[in-house]
Amino acid sequence: MLAGYAVQVEHSRGRRFPEAPHPYRNDFQRDRDRVIHARAFRRLEDKTQVFTRRYSDHFRNRLTHTIEVAQITRTVAGALSLNVDLAEALALVHDLGHPPFGHAGEKALNAAMFEHGLSFDHNLHALRIVEDFEQRYAAFRGLNLTFEVREGIIKHSRDYEAAKHPELAEYLLDQKPPLEAQLIDLTDEIGYDTADLDDGYEAHLLTLEQIRTGLPVFERFFREVEAAYPQAPEKLKFNETLKRVFNRLAGDLITNTQARIEQAGIENLSDIRLHRERIAALSPAVETERKQIKNFLYENLYYSASLASEKEDAERIVSELFCFWMQNPTELPSYYRDKAQAESPPRVVCDYIAGMTDHFIIKQYEKHCAATLPKG
Ligand code: MG
Repeated sequence: MLAGYAVQVEHSRGRRFPEAPHPYRNDFQRDRDRVIHARAFRRLEDKTQVFTRRYSDHFRNRLTHTIEVAQITRTVAGALSLNVDLAEALALVHDLGHPPFGHAGEKALNAAMFEHGLSFDHNLHALRIVEDFEQRYAAFRGLNLTFEVREGIIKHSRDYEAAKHPELAEYLLDQKPPLEAQLIDLTDEIGYDTADLDDGYEAHLLTLEQIRTGLPVFERFFREVEAAYPQAPEKLKFNETLKRVFNRLAGDLITNTQARIEQAGIENLSDIRLHRERIAALSPAVETERKQIKNFLYENLYYSASLASEKEDAERIVSELFCFWMQNPTELPSYYRDKAQAESPPRVVCDYIAGMTDHFIIKQYEKHCAATLPKG
């Protein structure tokens, strides 16, 4: 039984190109499956989340991060009696628009576009992927996803101003997205905050002492774990503690969102859409802890000296290749050369680079920029 404010698949605004119903799957289940079968989804396997393969094969990449976010999202959406199929589809698609090399790649691509008075936005790029670049079906371009999935791609993590984005007018920019989409920004962050602490510790870039001192929420649970398992190896105490931090964040997202639904008197989907602010949220106490984890990761991991040289490589590769294709458009593959006839060249070069995996862009760099990268 779905809650009254859940998105009902029967009330979907449907697809751009109408399709016959499927005998075994509803429309949101089909959209989830279309995302899983997309080429862009498979490429997530070779896109950096935080750590490149240089460190270890155990660490998250963008694909395993995405699968973890989908797992958290199913639990949270199910506990809130939301539409789990829609929420899962949105979790699986949420990072589809990310360029190679994680945050550094995105920053470099945005900077290159800025030189041409443009910008790169991974949500808008994800929409272009599912609407245009994925070509699987004879009857239409793109994946022909339902309105609710396309709306969630655009609106899950931020609000776009209608005046600045006339091309997004159909996505009801003056309204909040359904709760299934609102959850994603938070389940994404719960996923990577805990995963990055885990990978950072495993990579020996973060020490247990440092985490215990820097994060009161971790320290509190660590003491509990030490009392329960005094003989356990440090790594298992770390795991048990992180699991408790994880459960605190996800559990609070469920209970606090439920409380906010009740306080706001939310009964149906339009109440969610027309509410002045997003309903999905952590409680103030846990929100403070979330911010502490995030700031801790920025200070001690993302901006750490150990990751700096890879970031510099990433930025150099993206910006030099961008310049190379702007100056030598005939070197683009024919598909993108054709696109450059109709669209602005920087956008076409940006689209090409954004779709690449880490491995592929390094190969392109070695081929076109004829430089040898320092070996890690
Ligand atoms: Mg993500």
